[in-house]
Amino acid sequence: MIPITTFAGKRVAVFGLGTSGMLSARALIAGGAAVVACDDSGKSGAEAKAAGLNVQNLRELDWSKVAALILAPGVPLTHPKPHWAVDLARKHNVEIIGDIELFSRERAKVAPQAPFIAITGTNGKSTTTALTAHILRSAGFDSQMGGNIGVPILQLEPFAPKRCYVVEVSSYQIDLAPSLDPTVGILLNVSEDHLDRHGTMENYAAIKTRLVAGVEETAVVGVDDAYSRAAAEQVERAGKKVERISVLAPLRNGYYADGTRILHATAGKAREVAQLAGIDSLRGAHNAQNAACAIAAAVALGVDLPAVRKGLATFPGLAHRMQQIARKGNVLFVNDSKATNADSAAKALSSFSDIFWIAGGKPKTGGISSLVEFFPRIRKAYLIGEAANEFARTLDGKVPYEIVEVLSRAVDAAADDAAASGLKEPVVLLSPACASFDQYRNFEVRGDAFRALVLKLAGVKKEA
Ligand code: ADP
Repeated sequence: MIPITTFAGKRVAVFGLGTSGMLSARALIAGGAAVVACDDSGKSGAEAKAAGLNVQNLRELDWSKVAALILAPGVPLTHPKPHWAVDLARKHNVEIIGDIELFSRERAKVAPQAPFIAITGTNGKSTTTALTAHILRSAGFDSQMGGNIGVPILQLEPFAPKRCYVVEVSSYQIDLAPSLDPTVGILLNVSEDHLDRHGTMENYAAIKTRLVAGVEETAVVGVDDAYSRAAAEQVERAGKKVERISVLAPLRNGYYADGTRILHATAGKAREVAQLAGIDSLRGAHNAQNAACAIAAAVALGVDLPAVRKGLATFPGLAHRMQQIARKGNVLFVNDSKATNADSAAKALSSFSDIFWIAGGKPKTGGISSLVEFFPRIRKAYLIGEAANEFARTLDGKVPYEIVEVLSRAVDAAADDAAASGLKEPVVLLSPACASFDQYRNFEVRGDAFRALVLKLAGVKKEA
């Protein structure tokens, strides 16, 4: 845990007592603050009390003595409407911040030289965070990874020489971190998401932009969408160093992908920095964007190219994201349970040919009609869950399909058909384009169930 000493001797309110809120409270207490904790859920409050925290209703607090309100990122700050605790703090002119802000201020106070990479974007945050941390670790850094992935930021090890922090930051967290100032900031991409929480696209993009606007050294920005392009220009105009990233077109300056090659160009002169062909965990153009951003960040921290390449080549990938889990003969089994919408499934469908596709679950608006361009790659579809009939109607006459209802029947049927197909590398792909909640608690449980079923097949060889 990182003790937070910037509020020593002061009173701080913490609202939202999930994992990150509890840690904020503990880290503040360890650093000498007096903490008053609160949650709307009686159960969380009781648990916090049992853990020794001073739990009080913030409505009854003397706010004139409170230095800050630490808000859990899930609690509404602005939209659809501010939470009552936010209203109270504002009424009393008390600043409202989150755990990323506590970290940034502590770093500024006790370890301003500690390398800090912050990563945001609508898609690819977790993959890029894990990849960057992996490259740095394999290059000899003590790289601490957390934030919106794995453990909350304040659970990471305290500042020490040679220790660096690689942190995934969501838009909710940026909103609560006014002085976020990473050494290197990565903005991968911006597309429509979370408008319920941020109101408009402009507001959402402005929040994302703040992460790179605050960098100390280098802003790494994917410039394949208009919002991120505008962010790169804004940060550059403010006099900061910007590394642009594209997987759509060559750049005169920056990192870009040409198929599986990643090149770096300076004033129009390009050289290859990495080759992603053969790295199973980094298939697809979306992963080229993630990899190019991670490469740019590692290079900005001084990692040399051979070390970067070694890190890329040994990246194990993240579970449930196009994860190659096993082979049976020449049949490859891939778990992409994280693909809870059609956009995500498109990434997997575009990364393989000869697909035996397991899809369905709790459908999202629009279904799979946007995936038509990938239908020629699908040899057969196996449909499960509530979406099965709707998906069948979209596939009808274009792709052979079977409504199998449950994952166990889907795995058996797809494995048999793939083995009998005579194709060179048939792929049994779980990429549901649906939420999991009709049959599973979450996408992780669904992916784990798929993996367990695949590993039970006779003659299967485990890969991950
Ligand atoms: P996040 O943490 O932002 O949700 P992940 O790294 O967990 O992102 O990836 C989630 C899904 O998003 C992947 O399964 C893939 O379908 C898609 N994805 C990953 N990287 C990108 C990217 N750079 N651009 C677009 N989509 C991506």
